[in-house]
Amino acid sequence: MSMKVAPNTKRTLLTEVESKQLLEKAGINIVKARLASSAKEAVELSKQMGFPVVLKIASPDIVHKSDVGGVKVGLQNATQVKSAYREMMASIKEKFPKAIVDGVSVQTMAKSGVEVIMGMTKDAQFGPVLMFGLGGIFVEILKDVSFRIVPLAKRDAAEMIRDIKGYPVLEGYRGQAPSDVAALEDMIMKLSEFVDKNPQIKELDLNPVFAYPDGAVAVDARVVLEDDAV
Ligand code: ADP
Ligand code: MG
Repeated sequence: MSMKVAPNTKRTLLTEVESKQLLEKAGINIVKARLASSAKEAVELSKQMGFPVVLKIASPDIVHKSDVGGVKVGLQNATQVKSAYREMMASIKEKFPKAIVDGVSVQTMAKSGVEVIMGMTKDAQFGPVLMFGLGGIFVEILKDVSFRIVPLAKRDAAEMIRDIKGYPVLEGYRGQAPSDVAALEDMIMKLSEFVDKNPQIKELDLNPVFAYPDGAVAVDARVVLEDDAV
């Protein structure tokens, strides 16, 4: 795994907490994440939110939090939260000693759903482009994704979801309930509007979004700003 050596002092990579704050303001449904800068604070927030909770490393230097032992899910009580906090800090110190660390993101454990991903990248020719796909192996191995140029019309959002080969997964199969495709379309439209209005955003990822029979929620979020935007 390659890792940047110098810390991201310009903070072009927003943390999950910062990214979700922006997305929430844009009306996009996210699992709320709050920053804790000590184990004690993480426990307090967990109690307020209700167990089980998830802790994640909050750092402008870490792109993939799981890769550095920076995600702990299903924490059931104060003791587990405390040790997760300490383990995470120790792991980051060992793997990336120069990283700037804000603390940890604390959030409730979302019930599992069908994992989808949404993202934005900028194309040299077309400018901002939205991407949609199913999570996990569908994207990583099968590259089963679809793209549309921003700003999207409602019809584009509907089509890009149905364009992927894995679409039947969202329609429900073998007794699985169908996912709320309308909620996904709505999220794509809000994302399109958000990136269209904010040209200082260079890249964006919602990975994963959990799709439910009723609704959808972004569990993880990453926003990258243009160098000249900070
Ligand atoms: P990263 O992509 O930076 O490694 P994520 O925030 O995506 O970190 O977390 C890794 C995985 O942990 C997710 O793909 C998801 O399966 C699970 N996860 C993360 N946050 C939650 C949450 N709030 N509720 C339930 N599962 C979660
Ligand atoms: Mg993720």
